[in-house]
Amino acid sequence: MTTLDTDPYTILGIRKDADLEEVKSAYRRLVRLWHPDVCGRSMENIKRFLTVKDAYLLLKKRLQAQATKRASSISHSTAANAVDRESSVEGTFLFVQIGLQEALYGTHVTIEIADGQDFCRKCSGLGQIAAKNPSTCPACKGKGYKTLSWGEQDLKIICAKCSGRGKEKLTSCPNCSGRGIITRKKKVEVQIPPGTRNGTVLQIETHRTSSSNDSHDEEGYFLEVEVEMPEGWIIHGNDIISTIDIDCWTKLGGGYIEIDTVDGPEKVFVTPGLGNERFIKIPNKGWINKDGKRGNHLVRLNVLSPKGPCPKDALILINQLKVLWPCEGYSLPALPAPDLHTKHYK
Ligand SMILES: [Zn+2]
Ligand SMILES: [Zn+2]
Repeated sequence: MTTLDTDPYTILGIRKDADLEEVKSAYRRLVRLWHPDVCGRSMENIKRFLTVKDAYLLLKKRLQAQATKRASSISHSTAANAVDRESSVEGTFLFVQIGLQEALYGTHVTIEIADGQDFCRKCSGLGQIAAKNPSTCPACKGKGYKTLSWGEQDLKIICAKCSGRGKEKLTSCPNCSGRGIITRKKKVEVQIPPGTRNGTVLQIETHRTSSSNDSHDEEGYFLEVEVEMPEGWIIHGNDIISTIDIDCWTKLGGGYIEIDTVDGPEKVFVTPGLGNERFIKIPNKGWINKDGKRGNHLVRLNVLSPKGPCPKDALILINQLKVLWPCEGYSLPALPAPDLHTKHYK
């Protein structure tokens, strides 16, 4: 077991007033970074991961004891086998990243999970093997004892790490990283249902082939799905919302523009005189709901105006336009174009 030598909040990198949900999400984030399956099974990595896990378990226990029962839990997920995040934190968390189209239409991913454990053959399950070159015991620096001040006396206590020998005859088994056990692995195919949203947690059916009764294997596996979104896209309800740059002339005069949808680029005709419209709606190109119905893709228009001073010829035309196509409720007459050589409006 590891011991917490620092504050659990510091270890998880969260504020002291973090609630249970924040604790869980910080833990999941750190699992993703530091799980030995991800960053390698060195002793250091395992220790670091266990420190994180201990900090998490401690805070969870503390916060659950304080927590008042929530009236209802909210789940936004639509997938059939998605689980409530509140109750799903007790197992092993795995993560997968999928594309937007895969999430919309459903896909399957292959993941690796533990399938029981065997004793390490190299160390017979002890986690330690005889060292080739016995090294000086780091705990007592080779003395074989430690000194404790007791009143005016000094007490000598036999070093527990080396049993007083002063040398370390055993070293951590490299085959099992000192755990004494080797985790068997197997590949599992996980079905990601259509319409899976970012952050959905799926419970994985494992059907263990192992006949051993590894009690800690019964926690189950959960797969958190991260959906890669194109930059600036969000999903709101069943609609996908994105933004497109459009020049003010196209917005006023109309024309074709190409808009990226989840199903690829779509040529859309902008109606002349869109006026104050802020969005273009592309029907049935949004997200998918339980019944297989698609929402809309809403494209927010970011209207661009020309830069720099208006050329004299353009000013004349704009003034003619003001007369030909006046703005509603705007009664001031069009002004003649100023002489650009004498006045500057910068
Ligand atoms: Zn020692
Ligand atoms: Zn071993």
